[in-house]
Amino acid sequence: MTATYANLIGGEMVTTDATLDVVNPATEQVIARVPACGKGELDRAVDAARVAFKSWRKTTPEERQKVVLGIAAAIKDNADELFRLLTSEQGKPHAQAQQEIYGAAGLAKAQAGLTLDDVINQDDDTRLSRTRRVPVGVVGGIVPWNFPIMMAIQKIVPALVAGCTIVLKPSPFTPLTTLRIAELIKDVVPAGTVNIITGEDSLGPLITEHPGIDKITFTGSTATGKKIMEGAARDLKRITLELGGNDASIVLPDADVEKVAEQLFWSSFSNAGQVCIAAKRIYIHEDIYDDLSRAIADYAKGVTVGDGSQQGTGVGPIQNRKQFERVCDLIQDAKDNGYSFLTGGDTDPSGTGYYVPITILDNPPEDARIVAEEQFGPVMPLMKFSSVDEAIARANASQYGLAGAIWSKDTDAAVEIAEQLETGTVWINEFMHLSPLAPFGGHKQSGFGAEYGIDGLKEFTYPQVITVKRDAVV
Ligand code: NAD
Repeated sequence: MTATYANLIGGEMVTTDATLDVVNPATEQVIARVPACGKGELDRAVDAARVAFKSWRKTTPEERQKVVLGIAAAIKDNADELFRLLTSEQGKPHAQAQQEIYGAAGLAKAQAGLTLDDVINQDDDTRLSRTRRVPVGVVGGIVPWNFPIMMAIQKIVPALVAGCTIVLKPSPFTPLTTLRIAELIKDVVPAGTVNIITGEDSLGPLITEHPGIDKITFTGSTATGKKIMEGAARDLKRITLELGGNDASIVLPDADVEKVAEQLFWSSFSNAGQVCIAAKRIYIHEDIYDDLSRAIADYAKGVTVGDGSQQGTGVGPIQNRKQFERVCDLIQDAKDNGYSFLTGGDTDPSGTGYYVPITILDNPPEDARIVAEEQFGPVMPLMKFSSVDEAIARANASQYGLAGAIWSKDTDAAVEIAEQLETGTVWINEFMHLSPLAPFGGHKQSGFGAEYGIDGLKEFTYPQVITVKRDAVV
């Protein structure tokens, strides 16, 4: 029998008559059903969040910290069950699912104690002026399918820490683990502070435009981000958007070919390339291009593509059919244009499971679709460059500006390049590291605002300045 999961609304687990099927991308089997919410359920969740906001906004930082630490503990204590469930709906190999679950618990723990202290602007005989931060109210959180738990937690936790309440919508493709967490935290969070409702994409605009919601925090594609900005404009909702990326890595000629090959591979292929901050274009200096591209391709041949629940799998399936077909189409386009492949390229859209072979392209042109578009799959173009200025210009020639990486023994030279990249994050000699305490956000069309750290927390608040005139005559 297929399991049916429930939503969390106002402290209760609730179901609906209408349901959505959830499919395991490794087998294409329906593994569970979840509520298909519409306006009625959304209204109930928003009402519950509004009621809860009245008392939650008055809680002390210590009270909020205790609740958030309770969420972290609930996730960590049930990590074994949660990571298996995550693999079954998302497709990522068990080890990567485990990292996501523990990472989410770690993020909650690290951000639980963040506080926004008052700032004194003026304190003299004339006046006392103080800025305090007040919670914006009810937050609508909208989450994608590539890191469903990390993304849900990075919205729920700062909302609670800031004194807001939240209505969260997981992706219709990956709602199960989030709903299991909802069940686990039901009695940890005060009723109504965290509400989790599931539905089709069409539930998204209802959230964006709901008059009872004060702020939207969204992670997903740039195209959807633009629609959200439009919807939120109606009543000037606050928004934070974490959107797409086409991140470039630049490998300088002094990099050790054998040592960086494996790291460059995983910077592109972890989670089957479905990572906003994955390296999606790798620029390699011409002096080491042949050796390094061969080393990456050789490493790739030893990595197994398969069902993430099976031991030994390094790269799982694409998460859903639509994305699978998109990635197959990009590969077909590369074939049609006669680009050369170092490995992979043989897709089989009619097979069972959304599997795409690890595919590496050999120096395709800059205007190839596979270079210019965010692939979001296990496909990576390697490109040759001859001067650093050229590499920087090519890396920056994108509508996106999420992240990037430089690989070199000369870290001073690498920092100089990093400072010229038009992205929110640049790594030197590593990739995908995000600190829970440092702002993470995209430049250009990769985002609006930031998550993480104090900057991220501030986005859940308004500044309020209170001024006391001391030498007034009243
Ligand atoms: P998506 O934009 O299709 O969907 C994301 C969420 O938005 C889902 O919950 C979906 O149901 C909802 N949604 C769809 N249409 C909506 C609308 N009109 N209004 C409101 N909500 C709507 O994205 P996806 O395909 O789930 O995720 C992949 C994308 O997410 C990639 O572009 C990736 O780069 C991006 N992403 C960005 C980050 C980041 O931090 N910058 C992280 C992960 C993923």
